[in-house]
Amino acid sequence: MSECIFCKIAAGEIPAERIYEDDLVVGFRDLSPQAPTHVLLIPRRHIATLNDLQPQDEALVGHLYTAAAKVAADEGLAERGYRTLINCNEDGGQTVFHLHLHLLGGRRMRWPPG
Ligand code: AMP
Repeated sequence: MSECIFCKIAAGEIPAERIYEDDLVVGFRDLSPQAPTHVLLIPRRHIATLNDLQPQDEALVGHLYTAAAKVAADEGLAERGYRTLINCNEDGGQTVFHLHLHLLGGRRMRWPPG
């Protein structure tokens, strides 16, 4: 997707503070952090929303979560805890239409989320 901002970050075409990458996934700090640690983990391949996942993407989604757990450990969050979430479409609060897993930590999370 040539106009997708997260595809451009994955390709290194626009800057981001990248803190994790492997063959399938890139992790970078959110531009507008909502917690002391706020990282986005994205698949390199463009998938617009959670609704667009196919059965063959199940391993990729699992990989996003194991990457998030690695980043959480690297950021020193594992023991105290953290939150991961994926927003989907308008009611879910999605603003960038390239699937991304938010990893938030470093403060006590509230429930229910707003
Ligand atoms: P969502 O609302 O779930 O779609 O989340 C999109 C997230 O992307 C927001 O938290 C934004 O702050 C973040 N964001 C948007 N553009 C960038 C960017 N260029 N670099 C890093 N984070 C971004």
